[in-house]
Order: sequence, then structure tokens, then C-alpha cells
Amino acid sequence: MTTATAPRLNTDTSAKHFETAKTLMPGGVNSPVRAFKGVGGNPLFIDRAEGPYVYDADGNKYIDYVASYGPAILGHAPVSVVRAVQEAAEKGFSYGAPTVLENQLAKLVIDAVPGVDKVRFVNSGTEACLSAARLARAYTGKQKLIKFSGCYHGHADAFLVKAGSGAATLGLPDSPGVPSEVAVNTLTATFNNADSVKALLEANTGEIAAILVEPVAGNMGCIPPQQGFLESLRALADEHGCVLVFDEVMTGFRVAYGGAQSHYGVTPDLSCFGKVIGGGLPVGAYGGKTDIMAMVAPEGPMYQAGTLSGNPLAMAAGIETLTQLKQPGVYEQLSATSARLAEGLQVVFTKHNLPVQTAAVGGMLGFAQTATPITGYDDMLTVDRDVFTKLFWALLQEGVYLAPSPFEAMFVSTTHTDVVIDETMAAFDRVLSTL
Ligand SMILES: *Cc1c(COP(=O)(O)O)cnc(C)c1O
Repeated sequence: MTTATAPRLNTDTSAKHFETAKTLMPGGVNSPVRAFKGVGGNPLFIDRAEGPYVYDADGNKYIDYVASYGPAILGHAPVSVVRAVQEAAEKGFSYGAPTVLENQLAKLVIDAVPGVDKVRFVNSGTEACLSAARLARAYTGKQKLIKFSGCYHGHADAFLVKAGSGAATLGLPDSPGVPSEVAVNTLTATFNNADSVKALLEANTGEIAAILVEPVAGNMGCIPPQQGFLESLRALADEHGCVLVFDEVMTGFRVAYGGAQSHYGVTPDLSCFGKVIGGGLPVGAYGGKTDIMAMVAPEGPMYQAGTLSGNPLAMAAGIETLTQLKQPGVYEQLSATSARLAEGLQVVFTKHNLPVQTAAVGGMLGFAQTATPITGYDDMLTVDRDVFTKLFWALLQEGVYLAPSPFEAMFVSTTHTDVVIDETMAAFDRVLSTL
């Protein structure tokens, strides 16, 4: 596949690096979506980033809505976080022993998130989700999990079933290498449809360990929960004695300081975190009610460990990021920024007679080129992929960097000022007038 728009920007250095990368790493990347397969063409190699901007290896500057897929909520390389990481680095990178920094980040998370009484730090969102699933199974003594079509919970075997995001972009709803014995224990329900969950619970009485959900779906665009959906999941989990897990790897400290659970006022039994919680360094976490967390080793029998878990660099980045986010007005600003962009997109697409659906919650948003209202994964399949591909390449030419897939959400930061948003809108306007 070639690019839809003849490039005016010189991206030859990125292209050269990508040729080399393909001889060294599968597909030239360390995470599939980065390879731009969803839109064809070569990925940009990023040299550096600052505030709302990323700069590629040829020195081109772009307004960034990828934000490292979520973590860069204070913009890239925020001064105080850089300083915190530098100070931590000077004292050594990792000791394999407890540090007071872990206490500090744990306290921040527990104070912020309604459903978290105790927390365990890990190194990625994937680790957080697979550990939460193991814990739910250990706690309930049951085997099966319910997840939702199009929701992504990292790449552990149990979750590579209707997994959205990268897998959806590549048309791989499943993956070879996942044992069928594992996959059969993962049941798939329909997002925003509590009846689909009820039906699975009733057909598998006494067998469901956990219901896992992204409380705002962010790996099939950006799809907020409809009124009553999360409340229904809470009630169903209680009724059937299963653990309700909110995967807040994307939404945690992104849609609100206390995550989607504080925004919507529904408290899960377990929560998973990643992305923002590490401020761009590799961190994940899972946490929940005291009696469930008491199952985790060494307090209890459920084993889970990590050589670099809670390492001081990652903790320092997380502490400073959360400390900045805790300041008054931050989420009001992030919400206003997302809303301004979502409303602007609505106006611009309408002006050019193109259908569009938009949604914004806190610091995340999404748009989809379809006339179909988006409530779940099936609706996303009506999106015009060709229009997205053209739009994606044309926007890059205009200096706006979206994730290379219509299934990814957009992320704003505190450095996306009104001026930056207005520049973005103007770029969309120019691009749509030529499509
Ligand atoms: C990104 C993401 C994950 C996986 O996190 P990694 O750090 O990439 O392993 C899990 N769940 C959700 C909701 C995510 O958005």
C-alpha cells in the first residue's frame, strides 16, 4: 500500500531507519500498531518530543494526539517530571528492595481511586490485567472470565479474544499460540449491553470469576458507557458472586483524577492501571478491596512478582505526574480541551458534508467517520477506513499526528492550548476540503 497523498514533507530518514529496523525486529517495531500497517506506508521515527509536539528523525514537527498512547498527559518531557527522574537516577536505578517512593505512589493511588484500598505495582498494563484476572480466579475459585468485544486488556493469552485496537487494525480477532483451553474460558459480551452479560452469567452459573471492562472503551475509538451500563455490571457481579474489574489502564488519571470509577460513581472490586500512572515510564498497577488484595503473595497464596516492579525511576515519574495532576482545575482544563476538539471536529466534518461521530470524556476523545451512532464494536466496523487513511496521511502533511488506526482514541495534554487545538481544527478543515 502506498500513501494516499504524495508526501511533501521529507521523511527519508525515517524510511531509511525503518528499512534497517525491519532486518532487526519483527515488522521493524516493538509493538505492532507502530508499524503503520493500518494506514500503509512507513512509520515516522521520533527523535524527541516536547509539550504537545513530537519531532521526527528528519526534524519535522507535529502536534501529537498519540501521547505515547496515553501517558503524556502533562505533555512531553514536563520539566518537573524530568527533574524527578534525573534525581532518582542519580541514586541508582533499581535495588530489588523496598523504597519509600513506592509508599508515596501507593498512597497517591489509594487516596485518588475509590475502589483501591491496597495496590501492587507491576511494569505494564498487560501485567496488571493478567494479574487481576489471576487474582479474581484465586479469590472466587472460578475459572471463566467475561470481557467485551473490542475491549483490550493487554496481550496475555486470556485476553486475545475479540481484543480491539492493534489486533482489530490487523484483522486478527484472535492469535495463534493462544491455547484453546485458555480461550474457551474467556467469554465475550457486547459493550453497552448488560443483557448480553446477564445471558452469559445465566448460561455459566457458578463458573464466572470476573467481568472485565474498560469503563470508557478506548481501544475501539472512544466509546463512553451508556447511562446505567456500569451500574448494571456492578449489580450483576454482586448477584452472581463474581469480581468486577475495571481496566483503567487508559482511563485511570485520564478521564478524571480518580479514574472512570470516580467520574461515573461506580466502584469495582479490582482496578487495573498503567499509562498515565507511570508518566511515560513503564509502570502498571492493580488494586482493590482489602480482602481481595490479601490473597496476593506474600500476604496470601496468589503468586505474582517482578524484578523491576516499583523501581525508583518509574515511581518518581509517577509520583510527580500524579502530584501535578492533583492540582485544582487540571481535569476541568483537560475536559474543556477535549470537548473543544470534539465539537470542532463535528463542525468541520459537517461543513464538508461528511458523517462523523465524536465522543470526549476527560482527557480522551475519539471521532469516527460513519453515520452510525457508536455504542460498541460492531458500530465501529461501519467506519470508512479509506477516508481515515486519506485523512491520516493528509493530516501528517499538515503537521498533525494521529494514531495510525481508526480504532485508537485521541489524547490531549495540559499543553494542548486553545491555540494548538485551533491549529488542529484548521488543518482538518484544509485536509477535508481536498478529500
Ligand atoms: C494499553 C492498555 C493495556 C495494556 O497496557 P500495556 O502497558 O500496553 O501492556 C491494557 N488495557 C487497556 C485498557 C489499555 O488501554
